[in-house]
Amino acid sequence: MESNFIKTFIEEDLKNNKYKEIVTRFPPEPNGFLHIGHARAIITNFELAADFNGYTNLRYDDTNPSKEDLVYVEAIKNDIKWLGYEPKNVYFASDYFNEMYERAVLLIKKGKAYVDSQTAEEISASRGNLTTVGTNSIYRERSKEENLKLFEIMKNGLCDEKTYVLRAKIDMSSPNMNLRDPVIYRIVKESHHRTKDAWVIYPMYDFAHPIEDAIEGISHSLCSLEFEDHRPLYDWVIRECEMPNTPRQIEFGRLSIENTIMSKRYLRELVESKKVSGWDDPRMPTLSGLRRRGFTPTSIKNFILSVGLSKINSTMSLEMLESALREDLVLKTKRVMAVVNPLKVTITNYTKKTLEKYEVPYNADNLELGTKKISFGKELYIEKEDFSIIKTDNKFKRLYLGGEVRLLGIGYFIKCNEVVYNSENEIVELLCTYDKNTKSGSNFSQRKPNGTISYVCKSDSANASFYMYESLIDNDIQSDNILDKFNENSCVVKEGYVEKNVSKSKEEDKYQIIRNGYYVVDKNSTKDNLIFNKIVSLKSSYK
Ligand code: ATP
Ligand code: MG
Repeated sequence: MESNFIKTFIEEDLKNNKYKEIVTRFPPEPNGFLHIGHARAIITNFELAADFNGYTNLRYDDTNPSKEDLVYVEAIKNDIKWLGYEPKNVYFASDYFNEMYERAVLLIKKGKAYVDSQTAEEISASRGNLTTVGTNSIYRERSKEENLKLFEIMKNGLCDEKTYVLRAKIDMSSPNMNLRDPVIYRIVKESHHRTKDAWVIYPMYDFAHPIEDAIEGISHSLCSLEFEDHRPLYDWVIRECEMPNTPRQIEFGRLSIENTIMSKRYLRELVESKKVSGWDDPRMPTLSGLRRRGFTPTSIKNFILSVGLSKINSTMSLEMLESALREDLVLKTKRVMAVVNPLKVTITNYTKKTLEKYEVPYNADNLELGTKKISFGKELYIEKEDFSIIKTDNKFKRLYLGGEVRLLGIGYFIKCNEVVYNSENEIVELLCTYDKNTKSGSNFSQRKPNGTISYVCKSDSANASFYMYESLIDNDIQSDNILDKFNENSCVVKEGYVEKNVSKSKEEDKYQIIRNGYYVVDKNSTKDNLIFNKIVSLKSSYK
């Protein structure tokens, strides 16, 4: 990783012998799939540790049983692996529940924690705000013995959910709201996806997280900026719980992408309301969505690394991510022809019984990808938009009635002589002739065609559906409810044809469809119909 402020901190800490080894962790809560924002946290943690010959743990922060699920545990593991990282250890915060409980008991014994009987509303009302100090709970001075007894009652599930909470006894007048006797344990009578019904009390994030880090010997606990104000509490917990290691929390800015909503709550709503097909819908900013959309781990990594790391939250354009992808794909993908909006072309002077073939490299800029044969025959398909009855202006470099274009690859010039209409007056077919002398390699130079277009030869093609995507959010819709802003046109499907050379493609195979864009084969493809997700167009649409 290039030099950044966290790297500088780590270098100083090593120089001052604060830590012997650099150990980081990525601590997702298994309550949803990872998104591109998480990629920044993953890449930062893994790359920084590796830069100092250290290592990184994956730790599931599974301290809230209500929203967590094993499905997410698996998905998170797969996504990290896909990005190309392997955690040294995979841990679960729930494995430390016992130790956390012991540390809470220690706090009570030290007079640093107490059981409060106030309701959540009372606690919140008595915390004060930025301009007024909080007021002490009338239960704040309970004896250690009483606190221990009540905490035991909480632990054994002998009272209802909201009867008691355990609070750290810090300072109700602290200018830092997080230090105003934060709740550190609450009762939740729900089954946990790993510990099942073993526990009915669960630690709060601010109490659990530092303990988890310290148990694992994490040296640098990197987190996003919103935890900056929590750092004094983090340090308090480490100190007062007498943890043997003292990790250092460092915050970095969150990453957002323009026009993209990444909060897990919103993404979950999209999934649950079935507006999208799942967490891996190709429109989703999740890593599994981006993967299905055709983004590569290299492009995501290069994007994150090129954006750099800063102390402030940053919003990047989608365009930056897309150009990292084009850069990665340009030499790696085979270039093929496809027709997304087919218009039938009949070559009236083609009399051979068989198809003509012509061999070309798959990617003229990377011959290692091999060669393929392009076919030409009596029936072809071209793009509807590559034909117009009249040549409207000199910029129109395509086929028109009476005009002549060159066909990509095979090289033949075809001339449109007649247009066939259906009863609705729509163009359904073009009758064309080809010039035998113009095949690629024949050095024909007597006339200049009106441009070069791509095509697919009907009897050497495969059926294909092309899924084109746009942003999930429609900013023209005014609403506070984010679901109302869902872009109903975010997925458009076109039925067309692709050259048969690609008919044996597998899920995640990526191609450059010439003159159109990069596409990836979707998992829902069948033997008879390939499904292509459009990853991105060939050129940036940003000017
Ligand atoms: P969200 O708010 O999107 O639901 P989260 O922060 O609740 O995400 P966690 O599972 O707690 O999700 O995140 C795991 C780690 O990833 C945390 O350390 C968090 O700081 C980091 N992270 C999450 N979103 C981003 C982001 N957009 N940019 C950078 N880091 C992020
Ligand atoms: Mg979180």
